[in-house]
Amino acid sequence: MLGAIEAGGTKFVLAVSDNDLNHVERLSIPTTTPEETFEKVFEFFDDYKLDAMGIGSFGPIDVNKKSATYGYVTSTPKSGWKNVDFLGKLKERYDVPMGWTTDVNAAAFGELKKGAAVGKESCLYLTIGTGIGGGAVINGEPLEGYGHPEMGHILVRMHEQDSFEGACPYHGNCLEGLAAGPAIEKRYNKKAQYLTDSDEVWEIEAYYIAQALMSYTLILSPEKIILGGGVMKQTQLFPLVRAEFSKLLNEYVATPNLEEYIVPPKLQDNAGITGCLLLAQKEL
Ligand code: ADP
Ligand code: ZN
Repeated sequence: MLGAIEAGGTKFVLAVSDNDLNHVERLSIPTTTPEETFEKVFEFFDDYKLDAMGIGSFGPIDVNKKSATYGYVTSTPKSGWKNVDFLGKLKERYDVPMGWTTDVNAAAFGELKKGAAVGKESCLYLTIGTGIGGGAVINGEPLEGYGHPEMGHILVRMHEQDSFEGACPYHGNCLEGLAAGPAIEKRYNKKAQYLTDSDEVWEIEAYYIAQALMSYTLILSPEKIILGGGVMKQTQLFPLVRAEFSKLLNEYVATPNLEEYIVPPKLQDNAGITGCLLLAQKEL
């Protein structure tokens, strides 16, 4: 059996399935303290005979196999979770091979194998929600280097009509600081979901997202870019982002047709947990 954990800052999604991902059982639990949360995790998985596990976690996390803190959640602002040996706690309980990467790398892997990027060798998955995070699969493998990508914190050019100072505690007006859900809320004193009818909000938002997608395209050249997260529930953003992307890139490099290149997730909210099950399967 395969076990999977999509570890998020607000909830953990736990799942088990047979080795072909046919029958999936899942449970969602709130993320509280590490002690309490792991107790519930063990309660769930103890009922099964696991062959492998796959974990996609919020972060930053240590994904460097040569590092002494491989498998740890490292500098997260989430209280109680800093320097927690996530993988170590699991290994102690279940001595099986484990795939370990970021939640967004797992989502990209899920979309590549079972979702919007089926048949491709590469894709990029960006979530725009409470924060902005990006993961990618390149040549069939989740993208990691010394650490893992942090695509939400790249720098972008300010929109002419935007004087917001930015909300990222580390960089102020980085992409996340300007375009994540809380940035929109802070700029307009209203939650993003209540700003649907304000054209200006989404034009500025698209301006930032398109700049980021241009950088990702120029650096990674993925075959597909998948945009998820709460803010992207504003589907009017898709044509705005594509138009701005096209303007910025100015035909410098060829891309697939933009309607097929910049798309929503096909697995919707299941991209992450599906990717985690697939990471487990990959360990077999
Ligand atoms: P998380 O990032 O915590 O996993 P979400 O992806 O749902 O969760 O992101 C939450 C953020 O997305 C909040 O800032 C919220 O205002 C925003 N959001 C949620 N739903 C919508 C919506 N329908 N339209 C625009 N923004 C939304
Ligand atoms: Zn930042």
